[in-house]
Amino acid sequence: MSDVPFIDLGRAHEPLQAELAATFERISRSGAFTLAAELDEFEAAFARYCGAAHCVGVSDGTEALRLALIAHGAGPGCEVVTVPSTFIATIEAIAATGARPVLVDIDSSTRCMDPARVAEAVGTKTAAIVPVHLYGRPAPIDEIRAAAPDVVIVEDAAQAHGYPLRGTAAAFSFYPTKNLGALGDGGAVVCQELEVAEAVRSLRHHGAAPDDANLHLRRGATSRLDNLQAALLSVKLPHLDSWNEQRRRAAALYRDALADLPVELPPEEGVFHLFAVEVDDRDRVRAALREAGVGAAVHYPRPAHLNPAWSELGAPGDHPAAERLAERTLSLPIFPGIEAAEIERVAEALRAALQPRRTAAG
Ligand SMILES: *Cc1c(COP(=O)(O)O)cnc(C)c1O
Repeated sequence: MSDVPFIDLGRAHEPLQAELAATFERISRSGAFTLAAELDEFEAAFARYCGAAHCVGVSDGTEALRLALIAHGAGPGCEVVTVPSTFIATIEAIAATGARPVLVDIDSSTRCMDPARVAEAVGTKTAAIVPVHLYGRPAPIDEIRAAAPDVVIVEDAAQAHGYPLRGTAAAFSFYPTKNLGALGDGGAVVCQELEVAEAVRSLRHHGAAPDDANLHLRRGATSRLDNLQAALLSVKLPHLDSWNEQRRRAAALYRDALADLPVELPPEEGVFHLFAVEVDDRDRVRAALREAGVGAAVHYPRPAHLNPAWSELGAPGDHPAAERLAERTLSLPIFPGIEAAEIERVAEALRAALQPRRTAAG
């Protein structure tokens, strides 16, 4: 039997190839590469999709978080509360504003920020809370808001395209492997308030005034979403719901196929950016899957505070739920177009990897 890849982006793109190629050709001929009509169109469509008043396209998800935080007043002398269980970009974006990241442990059942720990982490210096919808499972925004009613919530939605905006703002990544991915890097800030959208719009383009590109009201950067990427994202956006549905269906198949194995399954709700199970002896299991021709990956082998660059954020034992997840988490193949037979094949390989080794006599 053939191998099962961890991800195959080609399957979702295949039916769209002609449209993607035509889009490339149109933009290439038009010469409109930055801040042009296709960017406005994608922003309007993605804002509508998220049930938000505004969307501002930016260069990548890390910038989306950084600029959304600055637009909400985060900076030197402030703190921003987030979780240790995330891609390191969340921490980098917070630190890049000049604010200090403050970590709150996750709830093992959701793998997202534990609302019960929020109140103790929030103080007079808190500029924002950044919950992460890890693996596409929505973080409990309402409970987090209830725990800190006056604090701005900037959702790290890089793994959760498909849900309406619930926080004050949300930061998205369109990195190619995300549920909605560009053909390169991209990102967006989605929000309800006009002033926030205007601030991000200015910050992504050298802090320029809306009507004068050479009047610099803020200290900004080159952080625009390319017009070409925006146009390609507009081709892909109408398919996002169907792709998320395929991910959910694959997750349901996994749930059945793995029901009798000694693995902890992910929560049922989500858009399954990843299908992350928890197993004992994870690295051995992952190696056995690889040996059997099944792609598997680890997101993420270390919680933020146990990375050398971020040791100031905590020590081993500080965030036990996040540390336990990092030791046990194993991402199985999931992507639009994955076939039932492939999921069956992954389940068999996992069953074999988890079975106690038997001698010939059995
Ligand atoms: C991908 C990702 C980011 C960063 O997005 P980039 O576009 O790669 O900068 C931030 N947070 C999380 C949780 C992510 O998965």
